Amino acid sequence: MVTPVRRQYLKIKHSYPDALLLFRLGDFYETFDDDAHLAARELEITLTSRNLGKNLKVPMAGIPAHALESHLARLIKKGHKVAICEQLTDPALSRGLVERDVVRVVTPGTVLETALLEQKANNYLAAVVEEDAAVGLAYVDITTGEFAATELPPEKLLPELERIAPAEILIPAADTPPAWAGIDGGGSGYPSRPDTPAAADPSGYPLTRLNPATFDLDLAREALLAHYAIRSLESFGCVDRPLTIRAAGAIVDYLGQTYKAAQPRLAPLSVYSTAGYMLLDTQTRRNLELFAAGRWESRQFSLLAALDDTRTAMGGRLLRRWLGQPLLERAELERRLDAVAHFFADAFCRSDARALLGSIADLERILGRIQAGTAMPRDLTALKAGLAAAEPLAATLAGDGGAAAEPVAWLSRQLAPAPAAAALIDEAIAAEPTGSVGEGNIIRKGFSPELDELKSAARDARGFIAGLETRERARTGIRNLRVGYNQVFGYYIEVSKSNLRQVPQDYIRRQTLSSGERYIVPELKEYESLVLNARERIQELERSLFRQVCSQLGGYAEPIGRLAAGIAALDVFAALAEVAVRYDYVRPRLNDGPVISIRDGRHPVVERTLGPGAYVPNDLQLDKDDARIILLTGPNMAGKSTYIRQTAIIVLLAQIGSFVPAAAAEIGLVDRIFTRVGLQDDLTTGQSTFMVEMEETAAILNQATPRSLVVLDEIGRGTSTYDGLSIARSVIEHLHNDPRLGCKSLFATHYHELTELAQTLPGVRNFSVAVTEEEGRVVFLHRIVPGGADRSYGVHVAQLAGLPRAVVSRAWEVLADLEKSALPGRAAAPSPSRRAAPAAADLQMPLFQPEQPLTAAVLALDIPNLTPLEAINKLYELQEQARQGG
Ligand code: ADP
Repeated sequence: MVTPVRRQYLKIKHSYPDALLLFRLGDFYETFDDDAHLAARELEITLTSRNLGKNLKVPMAGIPAHALESHLARLIKKGHKVAICEQLTDPALSRGLVERDVVRVVTPGTVLETALLEQKANNYLAAVVEEDAAVGLAYVDITTGEFAATELPPEKLLPELERIAPAEILIPAADTPPAWAGIDGGGSGYPSRPDTPAAADPSGYPLTRLNPATFDLDLAREALLAHYAIRSLESFGCVDRPLTIRAAGAIVDYLGQTYKAAQPRLAPLSVYSTAGYMLLDTQTRRNLELFAAGRWESRQFSLLAALDDTRTAMGGRLLRRWLGQPLLERAELERRLDAVAHFFADAFCRSDARALLGSIADLERILGRIQAGTAMPRDLTALKAGLAAAEPLAATLAGDGGAAAEPVAWLSRQLAPAPAAAALIDEAIAAEPTGSVGEGNIIRKGFSPELDELKSAARDARGFIAGLETRERARTGIRNLRVGYNQVFGYYIEVSKSNLRQVPQDYIRRQTLSSGERYIVPELKEYESLVLNARERIQELERSLFRQVCSQLGGYAEPIGRLAAGIAALDVFAALAEVAVRYDYVRPRLNDGPVISIRDGRHPVVERTLGPGAYVPNDLQLDKDDARIILLTGPNMAGKSTYIRQTAIIVLLAQIGSFVPAAAAEIGLVDRIFTRVGLQDDLTTGQSTFMVEMEETAAILNQATPRSLVVLDEIGRGTSTYDGLSIARSVIEHLHNDPRLGCKSLFATHYHELTELAQTLPGVRNFSVAVTEEEGRVVFLHRIVPGGADRSYGVHVAQLAGLPRAVVSRAWEVLADLEKSALPGRAAAPSPSRRAAPAAADLQMPLFQPEQPLTAAVLALDIPNLTPLEAINKLYELQEQARQGG
């Protein structure tokens, strides 16, 4: 026989097999059976056991109720789903078994708890459904209510998911994983942001598989209609978009399953198209280090960190979104740039606005908590303060005449303070609410006469009891008579042994102690019950009033949301302007033509790490005819990568509406920026680096259009020299010659042999990074100059890197020998540094025997004039020759 509680537990657990069930028992949340083992391990809490029936000892592990949030955070971060089961009736009042049920299932995509969220990033829950070579995608941030959905071709799904970086993705359960999350799709390449839960799914994506019926079109439509209490999806513009509806409906349905009690209200569904945005693929986001930099994915040195001087969490999230979604249309970009320019030019406006922004709370998330019924009193006061800031904030935009300057007039209009909501909070909530809801210090005096009456009755009764001691001492003459309180007997009057004789007739004895006696009087009990009843009713009434106020405030979601969006936008504009002023950025001139022209451009992140004055600015000129491919040569470490990346970043910044790090910039808008960096360690994917490099290069060649900007860094480096050179060369030829392409390209390479291409391809321009030599050492000038590099400076760089002297000397010798039998058509440029290098032949065994036939054959190759096919044939020949003993 098991106990009734055990039976109740098993029944509830049965409905939540895949969640860890936290079962409320008094002041604890307990876990049982396998859940207990799991919780003990994950939370490092003690595993005990409990008797829950005859001869039934069950493993148990518990956490104190007040510590729920921090424990929840740990479980969610580790990718678990947690079902929270509460006591629905007051144990003190219920006879028999306390009613219990799950009130919420917490999953990575549905958390509301502040402790679990990062302030300046959205926490998205996404849903993906695929059919007939099209994909429906929806995503929601329930902490802010943002809800969006789209339909897109399958190849656009991964980049879009990358951009959104959902904490949880809902998909229909199926026997096989979805194709896009398959191993080949690069599942493990999903960016696991350090703050998001470790993806528990083998695919590497944080997938939650749902009953496919959840994605059924009719059910999904019903779910949406019910959520918004509307009769048609007409207003969302998705009536004839079944995949959009199915994805969005699945989200709403899932929220219903996870938020049992108070389902969060969502903003109107925004049906969007990816067509208006520039698609940024994974490689480009990584190579340009938009959100994380370097091998350690450091955020500190990301482009976002360099730009993010926002003052509010709302602004921070908006800037992050903008950076992930550059725009394609000039009109909207000019509107953004106008606003940035306004703050750029007007220092007072900027500093006044930023000072005000600094104290504005996260209105979006507060609104989210209000709607979900988890708001705290301090959320409401913070909301009130935020609403109150709207007017002064709008005032900072006003010009001399009082009206807002033209470029920010629309922004000013958005900063409407939602006066009704502010008035409601003002009326209902105490100026400085203290304690938790129910203790009587939250609701403002005058808001509810009933509550005020109860409070004053409680106060009177407490006053009576407090005065009783003095009065009774006077009446009885017992000087050490004392009024006290304990849990069992309530209020009592205590008289010590020596004074018992003076105890009056009307005292009723309740308890005998070794030191004296405790009494009550009927009046005392009357007041006591008044106090206790009042406390209970105050608790009930205050809670219900608070709930009522919150639900009323939920009715102002629209104006509050609009204000929050206005504040976020203002924050971003002011921050971009602040950065632009501080680091000397300029407004880019945008056009729809093919020219990109930059004067004195800089890399915004490298420039910052180098410190003031150290960065060498450089110009750039790309057009559609005679300078559409820039071939950049120069030694390693000269600054090639930095230059080509800075160009891509400047274009990207212009297309989010930011000023750019340059003295002047004219940007012909591009439809996509592609980047590919050769020779990158990509150990995580377990793929051959070279294979990945080639796949990505193929993707670029297949997808680029004449309006794209292609940035290729050291393509072909992942294989042997001749292979690499051949591939690099044919890629450039293709970019140049294919009529579908003709895109603007930057190609950095240390293969200086490629510079000869400029002679045959009219659209290719050679540039190199200037270096000089001082005392046999190479000095990097970081200046981009016309013309190709004449050699690689590899030995110089090796020397700089600290290779032992003997090794460097020997390398000079070998190089000299090689150059002696130079390639036909190339003069062996005698290097002055070689003369400076000490002779050290006697230190080393010769590495190379030039007189061997194989070596001679290699040296005789005219590489720049080989076609890729010839190169491969030649390689094959050479290998044969080697096999036969050279
Ligand atoms: P490459 O691609 O030629 O190997 P990088 O672009 O990686 O070289 O640059 C190497 C280093 O040189 C950078 O880390 C940076 O510190 C410095 N550098 C690059 N460009 C500049 C510049 N324009 N001004 C000053 N320092 C630079």
